[in-house]
Amino acid sequence: MSSEAKAAENYVEKPKTLAELRAEFVSGQTKAVDLAASYYDRIASVNPRLNVYLSLTKERALEQAARVDALAAKGDPLPLLAGVPVGIKDVLVMKGAPATAGSKILEGYRPPYDATAVAKLEAAGAVLLGKINCDEFAMGSSNENSAYGPVRNPVDTERVPGGSSGGSAAAVAANMAVATLGSDTGGSIRQPASFCGVVGVLPTYGRVSRYGLIAFASSLDRVGPFAAHVRDAATLLGVIAGNDPKDATSSPAPVPDFAAESDKPAEGLRIGVPAEYFAEGLDPEVRAAIEKGIAALKAAGCTVKPVSLPNTKYAVPVYYLIATAEASANLARFDGVRYGYRSPASETLSDMYSHSRDEGFGAEVKRRILLGTYALSAGYYDAYYLKAQQVRRLLAEEYLRAFAEVDAIVTPTAPTAAFKLGEKTGDPLAMYLADIYTVTASLAGICGVTVPCGKTAAGLPVGMQVLAAHLNEGTAFRVARAVEAAGI
Ligand code: GLN
Repeated sequence: MSSEAKAAENYVEKPKTLAELRAEFVSGQTKAVDLAASYYDRIASVNPRLNVYLSLTKERALEQAARVDALAAKGDPLPLLAGVPVGIKDVLVMKGAPATAGSKILEGYRPPYDATAVAKLEAAGAVLLGKINCDEFAMGSSNENSAYGPVRNPVDTERVPGGSSGGSAAAVAANMAVATLGSDTGGSIRQPASFCGVVGVLPTYGRVSRYGLIAFASSLDRVGPFAAHVRDAATLLGVIAGNDPKDATSSPAPVPDFAAESDKPAEGLRIGVPAEYFAEGLDPEVRAAIEKGIAALKAAGCTVKPVSLPNTKYAVPVYYLIATAEASANLARFDGVRYGYRSPASETLSDMYSHSRDEGFGAEVKRRILLGTYALSAGYYDAYYLKAQQVRRLLAEEYLRAFAEVDAIVTPTAPTAAFKLGEKTGDPLAMYLADIYTVTASLAGICGVTVPCGKTAAGLPVGMQVLAAHLNEGTAFRVARAVEAAGI
């Protein structure tokens, strides 16, 4: 195949692993500068079709790549992610680079600092290619809520890549980055990873600093990695995790060697399968793929048993009350004064606030600000917000009880494979309901990994969600490795 024909392909089945790339740098076979340049070429040819990158940070990337090459030339030890090209979801800030969060209201804003996760990647040698498209303020499940147009799924460009980190998942699937960062508040890493056929990690709440993450719902927001291989996703998590004095909710727990954890065989692990996740609404092809994944875990020596999570049915309303309530408070700061867009046509200050917000925010963001403000208002607070918090606690306790009996819980990541662009945009409720399998872990604060687990007859990827108790990411990686190794 000519190189042109190759570049025309959107989807890359088995990109190189971090270990393979590292060996090439150490031997001198590949230069970081050349690799970065080849990724920019790839982006130039594929981005017009997929709309993944919103802005590129070439100067910073090439400077970093040159630093890596200088180290390699001297024979100095290379840091863990030396020369690895990564992309950053545009809700994480990079000093001096545009940070839009997929919103018009942040147009022109250039933050003066780096998010902690971004700084940690760079300190480990990664080459930061640019900022990646997403749903506006990470609100959505299809990437169709971006003010900068939807991302297309590399596997089938008529379909959504999932959301809100759709661009981060598509970038890895299309080999427009070796790995990416995303954020997950109610499924935004797991669901797009599943739709695009890549690995996505939901770290335990507090495992990764939220400093420099543009806030959606602060009690739920997490930063996590995407990669093509489970072990690489584990390596990335190890780099970005850890306590950060700049995020008071970040966990003081020590960070294990997640990649080494993922190398341990899954044999002997107890796997729970919740009946509530295999009920009405689950696409039969997705069910069949996940059942194959469960069979593979049995074959790998795991014991599989049923667990019960009966409050799952309340999770979507609880999530959409809490997330919108927090969003309505977090988004109050966008007033046309401090950041980005300001409406030009206002006579008074208060007109300027309302015009800037009216013109700057998209329909879904406005819907959520209204919902959240309503749930928090006097007279409704107890009935909605407070009640939701109580059920959230019940959901978390239900998981804790389950994890007393099993080491990990496996479910489908989403009830269907990737849907068509436009299919759900007219029905926000249908879009919300499809988050049923991911919002529970978000509310409970526990961790998980989604790993590719077969395909539908039409060739669309299916993802298996592997959940584990707080700070137990290592176990989720072990299980995910076993599913990956089965090659379903
Ligand atoms: N799809 C969910 C929502 O729209 C989750 C988004 C997210 O995790 N950021 O809120």
